[in-house]
Amino acid sequence: MTFCAAPSDTSMEATQIAPMRRGACPSLSTPMMTGDGLLVRLRPEKSGFALAELTAIADAAALCGNGILEITARGNLQIRGLTAQTVPLLSQKIADAGIAIAEGLAIETPPLAGLDPAEIADAVVVADRLRAAVAAHQPPLALAPKLSVVVDGGGQLNLGAVTADIRLRAVQTNGQARWLMALAGTETTARQIAVLEDAAVVPAVMDILKNLAAIGRHARARDIVGAVATRWATTFNLDEIAPMVPAPSAAGIHDLGDERSVLGIGLPFAQIHAHSLGTLLEALDILGATEIRLAPGHALMVLGIAPDQIGAAQALALGHGLRAFPRDPRNHIAACAGIGACVSARIDTRAVAQMVVDTAPALLDGSLTVHVSGCAKGCAKPSASALTITAAPTGYGLVVNGPASEAPNAYIEENNMRTALEHLDKLVSERKQGGESARSCLTRLGADGITAAVQQG
Ligand code: SF4
Repeated sequence: MTFCAAPSDTSMEATQIAPMRRGACPSLSTPMMTGDGLLVRLRPEKSGFALAELTAIADAAALCGNGILEITARGNLQIRGLTAQTVPLLSQKIADAGIAIAEGLAIETPPLAGLDPAEIADAVVVADRLRAAVAAHQPPLALAPKLSVVVDGGGQLNLGAVTADIRLRAVQTNGQARWLMALAGTETTARQIAVLEDAAVVPAVMDILKNLAAIGRHARARDIVGAVATRWATTFNLDEIAPMVPAPSAAGIHDLGDERSVLGIGLPFAQIHAHSLGTLLEALDILGATEIRLAPGHALMVLGIAPDQIGAAQALALGHGLRAFPRDPRNHIAACAGIGACVSARIDTRAVAQMVVDTAPALLDGSLTVHVSGCAKGCAKPSASALTITAAPTGYGLVVNGPASEAPNAYIEENNMRTALEHLDKLVSERKQGGESARSCLTRLGADGITAAVQQG
């Protein structure tokens, strides 16, 4: 077994620990303390990682942390189980591998940006212009650590479900590509502000960022959305903008046209061990993979595999226990890190998630997401779910149509969970009317019907 060398005193002093609270954002320079040690979150500066780069990160995670890597719901990479002594070495390993990590304001683009033939406009170009404007601003803008901007060209794997402070979405109006700007939310919850010509995008976003910086490092777009909406009264009728089509599951093969395709591989319940990732990357390399991009939905997008090899790569990923098909029931469960990894967790979220897969397949038809949360914070899915299983004082709470923070509709003793899920599975299987989805069936049964089923002795 290899152990990390102790870093110099100077590098240890340079490691600041981010407090574990809302608004804190762990990075290499400010890792966050969790239940299994320090955690850092990384975003590559480029669109993705070369295979050798991700292999180097996996090796460094095994050497400096507990070997567990995660991809978050919005597609960031997390390394767990670090210590104040090993974080500087991790930084060094990443720098030695020549990997540039993005710092500062998160400006996010869809995982297939610049490659997707369905895009209305290239989000990468706009994101790069925006990054350059932010970097050139003097004095540097002091912004909230978790502030984010989404630039979405409107392709297949869009970022509609990802929450952002500022959203830019390419739209076609009068036969021309323009950018719909919205603030504070997902594609469906953000306040639409204006439709902008391409040249107006960067000045508009910079104006908002400067306003936020003037308020202070805690300011988020939700704090100024009303004032910005008034100021940006638009000549376009925002009601005429077509709604975004929800993105499909990242897991599976996605066609890029011109006989090109990309394989989406989801991590089961968001995690993978560094050794598994290393062997997967080695095998994907042999099959011709050239680049890995991180994607929302805890997924990796594998680029460069020839069409006649992509089926083999998909089978390989499945053989590693990963989600490689759109119909994998695990695509429809959101689970946070849980007990052993988070100090706030009171249940083993991953074990419960697997129990849902094993005992309640009728729920996982793709029409809803079952959310398993270690506490009321609901990190894995802050928005409401048709079913949320959360920690309760003596077992589990079941929230119907709500977030983890809501009071549970039913309480289930720890030892009764499997039986409760079997009853729920039976209820949905028996009551589904011809062609009905699990979501629609649960909506029809209502909270009372669901509660009665799970509390059945
Ligand atoms: S939701 Fe999960 S990861 Fe988030 S604080 Fe609670 S237990 Fe920890």
